[in-house]
Amino acid sequence: MKYFNLNSLVRSNIQKLEAYSSARNEFKGKAEVYLDANESPFGVLNRYPDPKQIKVKERLAIVKKLKINQIFIGNGSDEAIDIALRIFCEPGKDKALSFYPTYSMYKVSAAINNVELVEIALTSDFQIDVKALKNIIANNNIKLIFICSPNNPTGNCFDPTSVLYILNNFKGIVFIDEAYIDFSTSKSYIAKINEHPNLIVSQTFSKAWGLAGARIGTAFANSDIIKMFNKVKAPYNISTLNQEAVLSKLDKLHEFEKEKDYLISEKIKMSLNLKKVKAVKKIHPSQANFILVEISNAQQVYNYLISKKIVVRKSPVKNCLRLGIGKKTENKKLLKALQQINAK
Ligand SMILES: *Cc1c(COP(=O)(O)O)cnc(C)c1O
Repeated sequence: MKYFNLNSLVRSNIQKLEAYSSARNEFKGKAEVYLDANESPFGVLNRYPDPKQIKVKERLAIVKKLKINQIFIGNGSDEAIDIALRIFCEPGKDKALSFYPTYSMYKVSAAINNVELVEIALTSDFQIDVKALKNIIANNNIKLIFICSPNNPTGNCFDPTSVLYILNNFKGIVFIDEAYIDFSTSKSYIAKINEHPNLIVSQTFSKAWGLAGARIGTAFANSDIIKMFNKVKAPYNISTLNQEAVLSKLDKLHEFEKEKDYLISEKIKMSLNLKKVKAVKKIHPSQANFILVEISNAQQVYNYLISKKIVVRKSPVKNCLRLGIGKKTENKKLLKALQQINAK
């Protein structure tokens, strides 16, 4: 994108916004006596956390081959979704766009912000309908497009040609949600943030990194966009405990690799085994840590699994259930339960 003016996309109140300056922001050195933030001098969690999460960002910058000022850390990547809507979409006026079916937080977050979310149905093979997209973009005031790839709940990645078409032609902000990228054979779009000043890529520590409980999400973009994110976020959005949790995980990259490879190998095994289950009609190929399966009587199967104390996810895709991948023993239990339906 040649002529890109970020400010023309940012809501004017956000452009004018002066960020809250926290005590930990105003004084950055090392002191002996801290009497600036009205904290208690007692306890172990008595101090406010680093509002900029510098240590986490330093580690992450190395892992992701980025600069610190290209990284935003959020209270889950859901915070990044919400902040993107708040920065770029004027409530009641601007619209955002997503594809359907996809991660339902885009819709919820847009609704909370009073931003209309235009949804374009994916094609029958769960790909972006570029023709429909062109039409809609030409006729609507769309500021932000959410692209979830690998897509939840379908599990596939979108054809890079369609994604690149959007990146090269859409004049608003492109938000690529890569929550499942660690499981995928496709390349991350992070490498494109230098080339595309309108691109935001989000990732998360909630899935392959095993830290859903710590609520750590990331957004990567050029430093001007990240500046806006930092202005809008809550000053202390990541607790000390959670910053420590992610730092400790980043110190054990081998553990992350091992767990991720385990889950990928279990997924492949599960896909093969599911093929032999009579009730399963179709197994959608997955680049994530779940498998979308078409099944006869999905609702009944869901209830039956619940009776076996196994919970899977119902899906907006007709007759489909989304099966997460767990430990070997858990996957076996699910498989066994599904095989028993077959025997009935
Ligand atoms: C799970 C998931 C997320 C993760 O959100 P967090 O807030 O980081 O836990 C984001 N996007 C998609 C598509 C997901 O499935």
